[in-house]
Amino acid sequence: MIRDFELAFIKLHILYHASKIEVFGIGLMEELARHGYSIGPGVLYPTLAKMEKAALLECEARTVAGKRRKYYRITSTGSLLLQEMKSKIKELHQEVMDE
Ligand SMILES: [Zn+2]
Repeated sequence: MIRDFELAFIKLHILYHASKIEVFGIGLMEELARHGYSIGPGVLYPTLAKMEKAALLECEARTVAGKRRKYYRITSTGSLLLQEMKSKIKELHQEVMDE
């Protein structure tokens, strides 16, 4: 059950970072580890694929320094969802933390 909650937070991190800069798998795993989420490629890559399929992210494969990588950036649909989630996060934060 804790994984369900964590996955929602992980998706929000991905959406947020993809709104700032192009992201890719390894970079996201490192970033998420910094925040205390341990996520391996077996969970991350299917999550990215799902988010791409839901048109929240768009993907471009490029070869950089001999490495083939998929780079993801947010779409306009993803941006709208992020805005909506931001107000929900704020509202939730106010209720849960205001004690
Ligand atoms: Zn983050």
